[in-house]
Amino acid sequence: MKAPPKRIYNSASVPQEDCVFCKIVSGALPSYKVYEDDGHVAFLDINPFSLGHTLVCPKRHGETLWDMDDREIEEVFKVASKVSKGVVAATHADGFRIMQNNGEAANQAVAHIHVHVIPNKLEDKGRFMNRLKPSKGEMESVASTSKSEIAKLE
Ligand SMILES: [Zn+2]
Repeated sequence: MKAPPKRIYNSASVPQEDCVFCKIVSGALPSYKVYEDDGHVAFLDINPFSLGHTLVCPKRHGETLWDMDDREIEEVFKVASKVSKGVVAATHADGFRIMQNNGEAANQAVAHIHVHVIPNKLEDKGRFMNRLKPSKGEMESVASTSKSEIAKLE
């Protein structure tokens, strides 16, 4: 018998009924959605590191990577890869970053598994990334373009 993994600490941990991302999944809260399939939803981060910064969430609630089985882990990263192609095309980015934080020590702000897809431009190489506050219009525009670029991949 393997020892159970150490619990990941997250002060943002809430009962599932209070989970912000579960509310986005159910449609109870609005989001700038760019992709959805049976098991996942992808929407823009509202405080993005770059315009087009997208979060890919499994619909099933879990807090960290350790709450997913191998198949779910494989699926969420496959979706993140697909989403990255649409987001990079939509933002004319030159590259992208995949980030997946687990626990408060790793800056996980919402305790529902999510994979960050962050498009990067060559001119921003090496620049410290600050959180941006894009306008509603910018968010709507990049969400709509990303959504149609992702749809072209299917
Ligand atoms: Zn949740």
